[in-house]
Amino acid sequence: MKILFQPIIVSIFLFTILLNAQNDTFPLENKNVLIVYGGWEGHQPEVFATKIASWLKGQKAIVTISDSTQIYLDKTVMSKVDLIIQHITMSKIQANESKALENAISRGVGLAGCHGGLGDTFRENTEYQYMVGGQFVKHPGGQVDYTVKIIAQENPILKGVNDFSLHSEQYYMHVDPAINILATTRFSGDHDSWIEGVEVPVVWTKSFGKGRVFYSSLGHNKEDFEIPEVWEIMVRGVTWAAGSKMN
Ligand SMILES: [Zn+2]
Repeated sequence: MKILFQPIIVSIFLFTILLNAQNDTFPLENKNVLIVYGGWEGHQPEVFATKIASWLKGQKAIVTISDSTQIYLDKTVMSKVDLIIQHITMSKIQANESKALENAISRGVGLAGCHGGLGDTFRENTEYQYMVGGQFVKHPGGQVDYTVKIIAQENPILKGVNDFSLHSEQYYMHVDPAINILATTRFSGDHDSWIEGVEVPVVWTKSFGKGRVFYSSLGHNKEDFEIPEVWEIMVRGVTWAAGSKMN
């Protein structure tokens, strides 16, 4: 009995180590991720959805993609989802769909997104903005040179990422005082003199009920995601919002 028992214990021990090792390598393994895209075509929502889906599949996540907010009413999908990545600029949402999304996040589903796909969405819907933690209002000067300043160097989403510069839309956002600011940008005032020196959040996290919300204002087009820092922040934010262990 003793001879049989010990190998079983050792096997369980080794299996546990192996399982943990796999989770370290693929923290999103077996996570159910729903990607919902749409809205203004200028932000190439389908291109973004395809790119992030491809990365997630590489991380062994279980991915569902939809081009309609009606998916938020699908109880089968919503009952098992761990994370929602939404990329819908402007557009509109039905009240019951919006409510279903908010209910999911408040009960613990993560929400992640970027730029106008999460932060300039359903403009007339203040409940939605309350959940996300900010709303785009303008990008003075259109495409400009600007710097992203890392504020929370020790946060796992930004650890090892240094300040960086890019040429893209510098989002001026109205933000919720409850957000946890991870990175900011300072406005030069070259285009609107009265905002000279104003610092606006670029990357943040926040809670909404039991849900984790991640937002980055970076990512106007697919070229922006070729900037290593922009993509790294995005995928780490996605990992955090899913409640996965950060490497
Ligand atoms: Zn844009």
